[in-house]
Amino acid sequence: MEADPAEPLDDAVAALPEPQRDLASFALPPEEQACFDRDQEPYTTVVDAHFHPRPFGGPAISTEELYEYFDRLGVRFVNYFGIGQVLELDSGCTYYLDCIGTAAKPSIKNDFVNGMEVAAHPNDNLHVTLSMTFIDLVNPDIVVELIELYDREYPGMFQWAGELNVMKQALLGNLHEPAGLKHIDDWAPFMALLHERAIPITLHSDLGNDENPTEFLYLMDYVLESYPDNDIVWAHMGLSRELTTMDPNQHVSIMSERLDSYPNLMLDISWDVLYDAYHQWGSVFLEFFNEYSDRILPGSDFVAAGYKSYGDYARELEITGRVHKFLDDDAFRNIALGANYFRLMDLDYHAPLICTPSELAM
Ligand SMILES: [Zn+2]
Repeated sequence: MEADPAEPLDDAVAALPEPQRDLASFALPPEEQACFDRDQEPYTTVVDAHFHPRPFGGPAISTEELYEYFDRLGVRFVNYFGIGQVLELDSGCTYYLDCIGTAAKPSIKNDFVNGMEVAAHPNDNLHVTLSMTFIDLVNPDIVVELIELYDREYPGMFQWAGELNVMKQALLGNLHEPAGLKHIDDWAPFMALLHERAIPITLHSDLGNDENPTEFLYLMDYVLESYPDNDIVWAHMGLSRELTTMDPNQHVSIMSERLDSYPNLMLDISWDVLYDAYHQWGSVFLEFFNEYSDRILPGSDFVAAGYKSYGDYARELEITGRVHKFLDDDAFRNIALGANYFRLMDLDYHAPLICTPSELAM
């Protein structure tokens, strides 16, 4: 599909350099890849580790069109996160906040469609990681049984879990039931299975809100204490639209303590809300990202509702990637060039090395 020349693009998106690397280039050892020139190549991530190919309801962007978006922006790796919570089918709703009172409950529906779409559209320039987003954290009893269903229907295809909601305040109007401590105890069988298979799990667990920034921290702490061996990814670093005025120093110190205590914890810095509503990624965050750069995953948190277009995805990828521009070279390689993702997933791909000044002068 050709780009529509009349489609307005944000200046920042229009100014992004052309991506220069295909998927195969990442399969070479780092020394054999062309060094990465940060002035001439995009600062946006090559790994979108938080992407929703289907909306809460209604039509989605077609797979062919999505693949075109990724290709145009140099995204070569993507996590397909449901979306897991589907609005009641007879509601006619597309976005949960437009349909308060309509239930949005975890379901296998979108995972199954995603599995079929990925199988039907092989693409040698894109690595898709399918994710189990059906898991209902307040009804954990049937999870192992459903994973066995996935094993039968999609053998070996689902290598991630999440995004799952522990506590998502924004969804409370859609009958989302937050997980409690007893529920978390009852996750043990499926958490053991995920650990055995080295499947990471992305959890959305709001830290709190502007009235009480750490109101729900105890939930994530309990998860981390209970399952220290699992690869847990904390979506949005616990931030949200409900928590936009927290002192960044307090936030960063809470995150650092958890990263120090739990070596398998990773943070997801996806979602344009974080950039828009927060700090515009001020210096406190930059220092933190540089210091803990091997513990951070990038992503857009784009939801591919059918009414959206290329410009919407490009804008969200650009905004969520803007912070990469200011990272040091190590952090840029770890986060934006995929080194963390490849290590976590034990993939046979490698991030390129950043060009040295002498290489650039050649
Ligand atoms: Zn998300």
